[in-house]
Amino acid sequence: MNTSEQRGSDNQQTTLNVDPAEIEKFGQIANRWWDRNGEFKPLHDINPLRLNYIDSRHSIAGQHVLDVGCGGGILSEALHKRGARVTGIDLSEEALSVAKLHLLESGHEVDYQCISAEEYADQNADSFDVVTCLEMLEHVPDPASTVAACASTVKPGGSVFFSTLNRNPKSWLFAIVGAEHLLKLLPRGTHDYRRFIRPSELAGFARATGLETVNLTGMTYNPTTKRYRLTNDIDVNYLMHCRRPSALNPDKQV
Ligand code: SAH
Repeated sequence: MNTSEQRGSDNQQTTLNVDPAEIEKFGQIANRWWDRNGEFKPLHDINPLRLNYIDSRHSIAGQHVLDVGCGGGILSEALHKRGARVTGIDLSEEALSVAKLHLLESGHEVDYQCISAEEYADQNADSFDVVTCLEMLEHVPDPASTVAACASTVKPGGSVFFSTLNRNPKSWLFAIVGAEHLLKLLPRGTHDYRRFIRPSELAGFARATGLETVNLTGMTYNPTTKRYRLTNDIDVNYLMHCRRPSALNPDKQV
């Protein structure tokens, strides 16, 4: 499978951290982003939980937030509703068209742009109070590069929130067999187990870019009650809160 795209002129080649098949997959079902009972139902269902998690750890009213891999804008709009100034970036033109159209209906304001996290970071270093990158890292060829881009767009003292899927036999059973095949919560093929990321790996990517991991919280689904909740169980879905230190530690300065 093609996992990256070459762009630019011959003497200025840059590799875009994207899997075109993933963008195509999300593009094909883009018109269903706001169907609460459609393919994106799980994202609608978890949205209040993750929004409260973010807001409780870094109060977002009045904050400048970058939503990386925003898709149709489920989280971006909710962040604006809570009083944030929001920019949403994604590489799916179709998802962004739906996101922009939905603003007309909802009356929310989000600045949506079709650009990669890396390219956006090059142009917008140290610009955001909060960066969110939820349910996106498991769809990119090089998640460490996306984490680095998130880290460079956040201001010193700001927060970066990630969410993704852990990689172990239980997460394969729950997220692939359970969610896609048995319960049919997600379309088959939504996730590729090989792209799941262990919390230790994600924390390592964050640390390598100077971010500190300050919290790790699990999100579990109960098929009987059909409800999600935040828990200590990080075996399958999890959220991570990282902070960019406010200033260099004087002891460490050369
Ligand atoms: N973050 C949103 C959407 C998650 S779905 C939410 O949680 O509600 C994953 C999104 O990641 C899709 O919109 C897809 O188009 C986007 N995506 C996948 N690979 C990407 C890449 N390399 N760069 C930017 N966005 C990407």
